[in-house]
Amino acid sequence: MLPFSFAKAESEQAALDLMRGGRATIVAGGTTLIDLMKLNVQVPASLVDINRLPLHDIEDQADGSIRIGALVRNSDLAHDPRIVSRCPVLSQAILSGASAQLRNMATTGGNLMQRTRCYYFRDPIYPCNKRRPGSGCSAIEGYNRIHAVLGCSDKCIATHPSDMAVALVALDAEVHINGPGGERQVPITGFHLLPGDTPEVETVVAAGELITHVTLPRRPFAARSAYVKLRDRASYEFALASAAAALEVDRGKIRSARLALGGVATRPWRAVDAEQVLAGAAAGDAAFRRAAQTALQEAVPRRHNAYKIELAKRAIVRALSLAVQSNQAVLS
Ligand SMILES: Cc1cc2nc3c(=O)[nH]c(=O)nc-3n(C[C@H](O)[C@H](O)[C@H](O)COP(=O)(O)OP(=O)(O)OC[C@H]3O[C@@H](n4cnc5c(N)ncnc54)[C@H](O)[C@@H]3O)c2cc1C
Ligand code: SF4
Repeated sequence: MLPFSFAKAESEQAALDLMRGGRATIVAGGTTLIDLMKLNVQVPASLVDINRLPLHDIEDQADGSIRIGALVRNSDLAHDPRIVSRCPVLSQAILSGASAQLRNMATTGGNLMQRTRCYYFRDPIYPCNKRRPGSGCSAIEGYNRIHAVLGCSDKCIATHPSDMAVALVALDAEVHINGPGGERQVPITGFHLLPGDTPEVETVVAAGELITHVTLPRRPFAARSAYVKLRDRASYEFALASAAAALEVDRGKIRSARLALGGVATRPWRAVDAEQVLAGAAAGDAAFRRAAQTALQEAVPRRHNAYKIELAKRAIVRALSLAVQSNQAVLS
């Protein structure tokens, strides 16, 4: 079905004006939204194209943070020399996703807002609480091989599909939002919501609001970081389990750590308990395995997805091992 109206916004204020009332849907790269419109899963009343807004830049800030405009394309972000050297986990996560063509179109804001790949969500023939609240979840008793083992509710067990967002969790990123109530910033860990009783509400972005940019604060663990993604085929495939690891290491000892998981949870998942296991430990296999065990201790498997628990543990150990080695390349 075609949208009722389509408008190109020339400025941030114009976009907010067009979105007033909360009925308009933003289109950026279109790589998620247009697919869902073709499938009749999302049927916007009107579309606002934001591609002309001046949100295309990656900028160094005076406080050492990096500001990433919401319209920065995934490929530009992944290949930016500052990202590659100062936060390799982000570059690696983005490059592990989709295809070169898709990454050339996909934007930073759109990537954060992408919808789940649960096959029942994407096929309107099936009941799905996320697509039609109250209709039921087809995955809980259905075929749930790709579904979540962490952060689930009895209403929805769909995974969040983004690789980029998992790396952003490991980098303590903040998301900046503008809307009718003014500007605000949200830590990435509070940006995506657990499904709870309202799986249709996926982020803190309210109707009529716009993501303007993401900031990466300067962090001592960011440069020594790595992303590992395990999936059914080597490219052009979503994660079954992934891990983003970032470590600050001093004379073989871990001073601070960040660990985030993808493909196994209903939102990009920060493994705080596992980070605490790592802090103060010798950087090596024993600590990495303990951290992996801790990260998955609350996992609840379903009929077809128990294999993800072991897969995620292996992704964690591998990502931590690669993170330890990664800074040596950066420094040389
Ligand atoms: C075949 C295929 C394979 C893929 N594989 C992967 C993968 O392996 N890993 C991965 O992470 N991703 C993957 N993706 C998803 C891809 O990364 C996303 O489609 C893309 O990042 C979305 O960005 P976009 O700019 O195209 O978003 P759009 O499609 O334009 O928008 C997506 C959503 O975000 C909203 N939106 C966009 N910009 C803003 C903003 N500034 N503020 C508020 N809301 C906004 C839109 O309203 C819409 O709801 C794949 C996609 C496809 C089609
Ligand atoms: S897991 Fe979530 S998205 Fe998938 S069918 Fe159930 S409610 Fe819908």
